[in-house]
Amino acid sequence: MDDLNSKIISVKQKYREIFLKSFDAIQEKVAQLRPDGFNGDIFEVYPKDSLGYTWQQKVIDMFENEISKDIFNKWTEILAYRKQFHCKGCATCCNLACSEFSPQELREKADNGDNFATQFLSVFIPYDSKEEARKIYPEYIKLLDETIEEDVHFYHCPKLNDCNRCSDYENRPKICRTFPDNPLSILPESCGYYEWRQEVEPIALMLHSMVEIVDYYKSKIQNLKE
Ligand code: SF4
Ligand code: SF4
Repeated sequence: MDDLNSKIISVKQKYREIFLKSFDAIQEKVAQLRPDGFNGDIFEVYPKDSLGYTWQQKVIDMFENEISKDIFNKWTEILAYRKQFHCKGCATCCNLACSEFSPQELREKADNGDNFATQFLSVFIPYDSKEEARKIYPEYIKLLDETIEEDVHFYHCPKLNDCNRCSDYENRPKICRTFPDNPLSILPESCGYYEWRQEVEPIALMLHSMVEIVDYYKSKIQNLKE
């Protein structure tokens, strides 16, 4: 458990460092686009056709045509590299899935067209209690207890048979075939994708930080232009 806990703490520290580096790099790119001799701030209201307005537009274009494409391409590479790793059939992901949403909330989301909620509900049913879930992956539940204040809901798949095998493997849905599709999910060490996750984590964190920063810049500039 101490191991798992220290891993999470180190990810948080790592993320802070990575976030600051990404922020500096993006800030530099924004500064490079600043018109010669112009001293205004990127987060100010400027009249149309002014130097400041044009600068903001160039920054938005750079985010959309350069940085967002780079992020997408790198994320695609990470997922392609995942194909070199394989499921070891430990069944942890079938036995324990968690969501911030209750079954009722997931149903409402599914009814409103949320594709992930629909898929999730087509596979998983809720545990009767957290204690039941704790038996599957106790370190993970303890960690959630210690680090997350919000309620987390635990689910499992009834198609898992007594030998810990999927009873409908050939027809398993996309959500199962593509798991884990996020290199930042917490995986047990027994998972065949654990090494992949460890290896790509730094770049995944960097991309995640860039998405956060780009979104921040874009929404702030768009609001000023309205
Ligand atoms: S459908 Fe099969 S692979 Fe998917 S969660 Fe259930 S048991 Fe696991
Ligand atoms: S946790 Fe990983 S190794 Fe275990 S069944 Fe799921 S994908 Fe396979």
